[in-house]
Amino acid sequence: MTTVDIVGGGIAGLTLAATLRRPDWDVVLHEQGPRRDEPAVGTAFGLWPAAMTALDRIGLANTIRSLGVHVSKASFRDTQNRILTALPEQDVVMVARTTLHRALRDALPDRTQWRNARVWDPHTLSGEVIVGADGVHSAVRRSHWGDRSTARSRPVTIIRGVIDHDLSRGEVTEYWGDGQLFGITPVTRDRTNWFTAIPRRVFTSIGEGLTHLAHNTQHFPEQVQNTIAAARPEHTLINGVHVSRTLTTTVHRNVVLIGDAAHAMTPNLGRGACESIVDAVELGELLNQHQPTEALRRYRTRRLISPQMMRIASGILMNMALSQGHRAGARNRVIRALGRPLTTGGADGA
Ligand SMILES: Cc1cc2nc3c(=O)[nH]c(=O)nc-3n(C[C@H](O)[C@H](O)[C@H](O)COP(=O)(O)OP(=O)(O)OC[C@H]3O[C@@H](n4cnc5c(N)ncnc54)[C@H](O)[C@@H]3O)c2cc1C
Repeated sequence: MTTVDIVGGGIAGLTLAATLRRPDWDVVLHEQGPRRDEPAVGTAFGLWPAAMTALDRIGLANTIRSLGVHVSKASFRDTQNRILTALPEQDVVMVARTTLHRALRDALPDRTQWRNARVWDPHTLSGEVIVGADGVHSAVRRSHWGDRSTARSRPVTIIRGVIDHDLSRGEVTEYWGDGQLFGITPVTRDRTNWFTAIPRRVFTSIGEGLTHLAHNTQHFPEQVQNTIAAARPEHTLINGVHVSRTLTTTVHRNVVLIGDAAHAMTPNLGRGACESIVDAVELGELLNQHQPTEALRRYRTRRLISPQMMRIASGILMNMALSQGHRAGARNRVIRALGRPLTTGGADGA
């Protein structure tokens, strides 16, 4: 039996722990504690086809499908509700973060050892394989890749929340205004998830943030104003955004980084959790099939480029979405022109 220490019981760490075969692997999962802000709010993730395929490989896709809601329509619009571009129909499942966590925890084999404590010094861990699944501010990355790998802050504030009735019409809609984006999605058939990104701003309370939004979204469509009117501080979160620096490798001897520890990105493409799931299933399957050294060697080449590209693309999309003044107008014209082949026939908001 080989021991793996997984630092972090978020989506990446839980998915890896669910993928590793017992009794071949003795899995020790270190989680510093419940994230008390998240269970209270339960904002949604969009799980794209690559993540659903990975979940299918570990037998969890149908469970997640039954707990979430399938969305087939997604569009980006301007503040006059005109479609900029619509995404082609795909197998995307929206699910609450809390629901996904619970489903992954329920899928853990009994023999998983939980250590409910923060790992302060990853050098003290003795597993044959050490996995940094400890998120954007990863202690594992800092201790093995050095202080220069520390995440950097983006000058953006995200306000997001859920509402106890449906305002999404079962669709994902993202409105791009002048220096602000506003998104609305379902969480379940009768609950709404919403989010907005604005240039960095500090609020003294969540209530103040919501008041600010109510004033600053008056030029957005009615759907947005209804969403803000229904938002409650106790079901709202306000965050900054941190992103990873480019890493030339996510493997260092017997230490490997997965999820946000390896490639934290802005949320614009909605792919951070998806990439974390794909990392974890890929790594778990390789560890199930090969000796650790060979598994990590293969993992290093398989999962380096595409998540880092996704991270870079998400950052570019964030800059585009938050363009201001004449740049916002030019952006809309370009996207509308590029997206025309996708939207012809499907546009209903023009
Ligand atoms: C506003 C917003 C919206 C998003 N929307 C989407 C979306 O629609 N779709 C999508 O795919 N992604 C989305 N993401 C990204 C997604 O949240 C992350 O990519 C995903 O949560 C990463 O999972 P993870 O397990 O790598 O890290 P985390 O979820 O951060 O988990 C890390 C875990 O490690 C634990 N930990 C940290 N340090 C230690 C330590 N030293 N010792 C022990 N435990 C430790 C933490 O408590 C935590 O539980 C969004 C992110 C944000 C901020």
